Amino acid sequence: MPTGVNQSDRMTPKTRVAELAVAGGEPMFRQTIHVGRPNIGDRQRLRERIDDLLDRRWLTNNGQYVQEFERRVARRIGVRHVVAVCNGTVALEIAVRALGLTGEVIVPSFTFAATVHALHWLGITPVFCDVHPRTHTLDPRRVEELITPRTTGLIAVHLWGRACDVDDLSAIANRHHLKLLFDAAHAFGCSYQGRMVGNFGNAEVLSFHATKVLNTFEGGAVVTNDDDLADRLRLMRNMGFRTLDEVVSVGTNGKMSEVSAAMGLTGLESIDEFIAVNRRHYEHYRHELAGIPGITLAPVSETERSNFQYVVLDVDEAHSGISRDDLIRVLHAENIKARRYFFPGCHRMPPYRDLYPEAGASLPETERLAESVLCLPTGETLTAEDVAAICGIVRLAVSHSGELRPILSRATR
Ligand SMILES: *Cc1c(COP(=O)(O)O)cnc(C)c1O
Repeated sequence: MPTGVNQSDRMTPKTRVAELAVAGGEPMFRQTIHVGRPNIGDRQRLRERIDDLLDRRWLTNNGQYVQEFERRVARRIGVRHVVAVCNGTVALEIAVRALGLTGEVIVPSFTFAATVHALHWLGITPVFCDVHPRTHTLDPRRVEELITPRTTGLIAVHLWGRACDVDDLSAIANRHHLKLLFDAAHAFGCSYQGRMVGNFGNAEVLSFHATKVLNTFEGGAVVTNDDDLADRLRLMRNMGFRTLDEVVSVGTNGKMSEVSAAMGLTGLESIDEFIAVNRRHYEHYRHELAGIPGITLAPVSETERSNFQYVVLDVDEAHSGISRDDLIRVLHAENIKARRYFFPGCHRMPPYRDLYPEAGASLPETERLAESVLCLPTGETLTAEDVAAICGIVRLAVSHSGELRPILSRATR
């Protein structure tokens, strides 16, 4: 074991630039610390459920675990219908199609690619709308000016689990007879004005991807209080089968498997612990990062429920002396795999950057955030000492940014 690496495979705190891995020192962590490392919960319960579904030889097709998972998620959210599917992207595609969206749909660019891909995949034109600089969610003041006769709906994203401005967006949707879909992939367990996310708009989409607060390996759901919509969603998820051998409409295969639902049920039994751990890490990060110039931790509402799954830093280079990208390089060298969510903004990715080359002009906040925001690790497998060590690196990089600059410009980019 190299000197200085302690029992949890972490170096003792670093105090000098020369000790930073980017300057040739030993990395702070021997094993890479990831953002979105999966939460697993009680393995014994998971194994029992897997044995049970194998014994019963019921692996998919609306099995008992999928049905139970849908009931439990519905109860937790307080929503009438949960339609579990194989992933969040397919959930978006099915929801968009079941809502009858066509033409143009207004959507943020500052989101995961899937939100926008779901539209383009279905031949719909995504119309990029800027986000609010403080909330990072769709700015209702910017939405109305983008509505045209071809607009059929809005997709708003509860980014970082922070609910959008649901009231204003709903009012706009009502006024213009538009459908309103929320991408709630980040927001399981979060609330808006005291009501659980999942109850708003025409429908909301959840992701249970491995990196999300609750996971089913891969998985997702469309949730809604609209009975007719739920019926259409269930048909679409299962190739339009109404009964065992009667197809009544076009559909796809979006079914969730039993092993995924078994994982989801197991995770649900520990979800309050996952969130409590995230919350503790979040508070610890807030404490440790307080007062570092140019480094702002995105706030979490004091009055709403949050899952604390995303620890989001805004790096203001004018005050930190180090850019977001250079801070990422410093962290990565320490084996802290901080992530540039959501770089570079969907409007700057193919094919959208070629289809809508002018989009950036109306997205100043998106462009700024895409250059200044990063996400830090959290979750079940991180310890308080890990959080302190990560913050120590950030503090050292900022307090010695001048000394670091020549090292960073020498190091290969
Ligand atoms: C993860 C995610 C999705 C897609 O979910 P998958 O389950 O990975 O397909 C959609 N939107 C956002 C904002 C996400 O973070």
